[in-house]
Amino acid sequence: MAKVWQKKFLETVENFSDIIFSTSFSIEDQLITDFITQEKLPVEIFTIDTGRLPHETHDVWQNTLDKYRIRISTFYPREETLSAFVNQNGINPFYESKELRLKCCEIRKVEPLQRALKDKKLWISGLRKEHSQTRANKNFFEKDEALQLTKFYPLLELSETEIWEEIHQKNIPFNRLYKQGYRSIGCATCTRAIRHDEDIRAGRWWWENDNKKECGLHVN
Ligand code: SF4
Repeated sequence: MAKVWQKKFLETVENFSDIIFSTSFSIEDQLITDFITQEKLPVEIFTIDTGRLPHETHDVWQNTLDKYRIRISTFYPREETLSAFVNQNGINPFYESKELRLKCCEIRKVEPLQRALKDKKLWISGLRKEHSQTRANKNFFEKDEALQLTKFYPLLELSETEIWEEIHQKNIPFNRLYKQGYRSIGCATCTRAIRHDEDIRAGRWWWENDNKKECGLHVN
């Protein structure tokens, strides 16, 4: 029998066209990829390769392609903008200031994301309330006026335990960094393992002292 989140997912897909799903190969995203593939849903899947991803993420990416035999469109930062940024600021400027960190995220993630989402009507994301304080007040659907699309978070209310149960039951490939204490995985340089009593996103940009651990992909 279909679960609540699966029913909501199917109903939503029926009511939209030009649907796209962004994966970073997190456990949430892997569960969504599995569902899209098993149900043969008309949803384009894409990812962003920032150029700084851990090799473990590339491994789960390849394992996912091998298991599901699907196409995952890949977007990269614009070469000219990135080389100008690195030439001016060095290769690891994100540790120097939040301004430079956000600029790096803008070049390596946000701009490629905007290109991927162009002309789309529905953007599916694996974001969950449990991830952080800033995500706790989100609703299943959000209008993004700037991008002129609707965002949909099908797993919003699921717990980390529920996600892992489905990952194991369905034998879905997952990033082996989770086995090393990582609970939210981004670029290798900006992610670290955390203690179990820390917030899920505490390992992201851990040198910054605030609760807003976002990169500009989900700013609301
Ligand atoms: S997470 Fe770090 S390396 Fe990746 S885009 Fe953001 S600042 Fe740059």
